[in-house]
Amino acid sequence: MIFIKREFEAYLDDMDKITILLPMESFHGESATFTLLFEESTYSLEVIEKVTLPQMVKYICKTTPDINIGSKYMIVDEHGRKTDLQIGAVIRTDSFDETFYYEGNDLGATYHKGETAFTLWAPTASAVKIKFRAPQSEEDIHYSLIREEKGIWRITVQGDLEGFQYTYLICVNLVWREAVDPYAIASGINSGAAVVIDKDRIMTPKIPLLPFNEATDAIIYELHIRDFSSHPMSGITQKGKYAAFSEEPAPSLEAGETGMMYLKNLGVTHIELLPINDYGGVDEAEPDKSYNWGYNPLLFNVPEGSYALDPTDPYSRIVELKAMINSFHQKDLRVIMDVVYNHVYIREDSSFEKIVPGYFFRHDQHGMPSNGTGVGNDIASERKMVRKYILDSIKFWLEEYDVDGFRFDLMGILDVQTMNAIKEAISIIKPDAILLGEGWELNTPLPADQKAMIINAKRMPEIAFFNDMVRDSVKGSTFNLFDRGFALGNTHKTQLLKQSLSGSVQTEPHIKGLFLEPVQSINYIESHDNHTMWDKISVCNSHEDEKIRMKRHLLATSIILLAQGIPFLHAGQEFYRTKGGEENSYKSPDTVNNLDWQRKEQHLESVRYISGLIKLRKSHKAFRLPTTVEIQQHVKFPIEKGHLLMYHLNDVNKYGKWNHLLVIFHNGLLPEKIELPMDGDWEVLVDESVAGETPIRKVNGEILIAPISTLVLAQY
Ligand code: CA
Repeated sequence: MIFIKREFEAYLDDMDKITILLPMESFHGESATFTLLFEESTYSLEVIEKVTLPQMVKYICKTTPDINIGSKYMIVDEHGRKTDLQIGAVIRTDSFDETFYYEGNDLGATYHKGETAFTLWAPTASAVKIKFRAPQSEEDIHYSLIREEKGIWRITVQGDLEGFQYTYLICVNLVWREAVDPYAIASGINSGAAVVIDKDRIMTPKIPLLPFNEATDAIIYELHIRDFSSHPMSGITQKGKYAAFSEEPAPSLEAGETGMMYLKNLGVTHIELLPINDYGGVDEAEPDKSYNWGYNPLLFNVPEGSYALDPTDPYSRIVELKAMINSFHQKDLRVIMDVVYNHVYIREDSSFEKIVPGYFFRHDQHGMPSNGTGVGNDIASERKMVRKYILDSIKFWLEEYDVDGFRFDLMGILDVQTMNAIKEAISIIKPDAILLGEGWELNTPLPADQKAMIINAKRMPEIAFFNDMVRDSVKGSTFNLFDRGFALGNTHKTQLLKQSLSGSVQTEPHIKGLFLEPVQSINYIESHDNHTMWDKISVCNSHEDEKIRMKRHLLATSIILLAQGIPFLHAGQEFYRTKGGEENSYKSPDTVNNLDWQRKEQHLESVRYISGLIKLRKSHKAFRLPTTVEIQQHVKFPIEKGHLLMYHLNDVNKYGKWNHLLVIFHNGLLPEKIELPMDGDWEVLVDESVAGETPIRKVNGEILIAPISTLVLAQY
């Protein structure tokens, strides 16, 4: 960055307020008057506050003329010293937002064969240029943009610009910075420049899907593009690429069925992909040299290049990602995109900060960037043009890539109004798309009632939240490795387990419930973050042998798949996924992160069991009640004692072929005898070793429950 030496500093901190800082070293920081110069005119400033600081004196002045942001003003002190008026905290005021909010939908590059129009929002800039480079050329061409209304800068360039790289040069407070267009939809390798493309060349037919009615019908499976195919036994040729999903690998002796057919046959409905937009941390030129989950967002509307067959060709990643999504859709699998709008990779290097410094990020009371994300910056979603950016980006992915939902990383950083606006926009474009997020409470300077976090869930009725109460009651605390939940043998979490099974909504007068409706609850025990379930059990229950630990693992997943709400599985959870005890594998090698297809084959019984539970869940809507009222009517807990909890779905024949379903979860090491609460024969659908929708045998009266098991019984 260029450093500009000034005799003193003056900042526009509000539309009518200027802060002037005079250093102590000359005139003891004193000046009796200040004058504002604009073109040929001069205006005297009224000092309304004066504060003596150790190194300088601070003057807060009122200006009478309206300051025209983007124009050049000078400030002169009593001693005749001059400085330029810099843009200060004014950019974070409501009046700035009101003045410069731009509604148009033409931001970015609009290509036509004969000309391309470029539009950039840069209200604090005093000048903007665009720099082009033609394909295979070494020569840069510069043009100046013209400032128009609302801080918008435009230029229309004649000629066919397809394949031209471009960046913007923006001058703010006398400093020039080079930035990539945040509205870019295509880029060269490693995000260095945007590329003008012809959208006709990325058109793909959209594949129609079978209807999807209620969010509670979803069974989400979380997957990383690279993990899916990077294992040596995956049978997939194009390892780590979007293209891996279009392959149909032949089953092998060591790994059995792999690839897309495996996902299809497992029975899940939605594949949630870790970030697929451009991120930093993996060199696209040598992707095999490093690994990353992808939470370092760079270009929000460009697919990540390291998954492309040719990251130097801007079309490759786009076309291959679209083909991948179509491969999912052809198998009637929906795609949820993990989006990271809560922060950027490096604030200072981000296009946002270079184009409108200080606007896109939250700052604390001392004017320093806040860090609720733990990554060094928090996106200020409450600001109008930031909200618009997120909304525009979401709409772009829905319309252009036909994705079927979004998972918001650290949604608790964003604000309630933005999240509800996103949900509304999604509902218009794709009514059955689902929206979920991490509603954790984070230390970001936003009033508590505006944070999109779980405790405000009732004000975001159509948004689903990762449910940490479910996670911790079934598995035990994520943050205390040795804390055990119900599945790990704890008998003190039964009350929480009952709420978890009831969609975490209000079921009794004294239980408030986390959510208004069960469609808000993402029930999970494991995701890409933290220890896998298997790794946690291995530490927590190291005193038990492997067979017992496997039973506990299956019990935990059974609870997730049979609870009210939306079940969420981490890829490989169905075959005891392990990362060898690594708690945070965000940049660990493929050997730690990959889906081990051989392990899948070794634990095929577990896979069949989980897949059977999925079939059962899909076969009867009583497991997927969409409303709180229906849960209040049909969910009961007739037996709870020590190691055992019975969950009764009663009077449910309007939802499927059975009228009564009894689900018994048992976490004890000894068999347990119970008397069934209703007379007559019951069909066993799930026991300790088999799960599905077809009856295995009949039972009645007093029955014995196997150690650490799930039992599902059904009656007409
Ligand atoms: Ca990248």
